[in-house]
Amino acid sequence: MIASRLTSLLQGKTIQKAVINNHLVLHGIEVKHFEDEVTGKVYGAVRADGKFLLISLENDCEIVVNPMLAGRFRLMERPKRPSKTDIFHLHSENQILRYTDRKQMSRVYLVQGGDYSRVAEFNGRGPSALDPELKLTEFKRHLRSRRGQIKNILRNQKFVKGIGNAYADEILLYAGILPFRRKSSLSNEEVEQLYNAMRNVLMKFKGVLEKRPLDEIALEKRDFMMVHNRGGGVCPLCGGRISEVKANRFKTNYCQTCQK
Ligand SMILES: [Zn+2]
Repeated sequence: MIASRLTSLLQGKTIQKAVINNHLVLHGIEVKHFEDEVTGKVYGAVRADGKFLLISLENDCEIVVNPMLAGRFRLMERPKRPSKTDIFHLHSENQILRYTDRKQMSRVYLVQGGDYSRVAEFNGRGPSALDPELKLTEFKRHLRSRRGQIKNILRNQKFVKGIGNAYADEILLYAGILPFRRKSSLSNEEVEQLYNAMRNVLMKFKGVLEKRPLDEIALEKRDFMMVHNRGGGVCPLCGGRISEVKANRFKTNYCQTCQK
């Protein structure tokens, strides 16, 4: 969603100036080298691969961004003094691509020739959750080798890529399955419900986000979510109260009535 938006806004434009504001997020390359390397390059397509965003530049080179929890892209029409959350600015004619991360946890790489071996957690991931080739039988096959709680499996990128903590809560609400259930306890029917919920929820969110401007996506307005971050609120499916559990840094929300 954000990738196709960025492609239509950037493709064919030349990067006239590149400024890295926070060198700590840059991996495997010096700031100066990165800035020199991308300056003068023309933007190709931007694509999403799971949670990563890949900005292709001419000559087989790509800026690979792992936005972690809070990395966001925006476009500005004129330069602004970078704030503490700014990671990089890429200037092209009449516009600046601005990448911010209020948690400063992002990882940024410059990849040549499609070699992602130095990009942490890139290789070895599962198929994309929205890949048309990922049919129910494939989904079941990938699930077979997984152990533990179903929510942890869902958001493990080695199982399928593209599902984060919040989306996993939404999918499990629609599937009617409690997040802490162990995979081994799921019936065949429940696995099917889970697969269908995964597809339907992700398609629905994609549709919602596609209609939004870039700035609104960057604001992380998650008003389309029914259960995540709505602890203590009312479940839109049954009118019951939404429960909340916090483990590590992650919040889990669910409905005890809708989910078994
Ligand atoms: Zn409910």
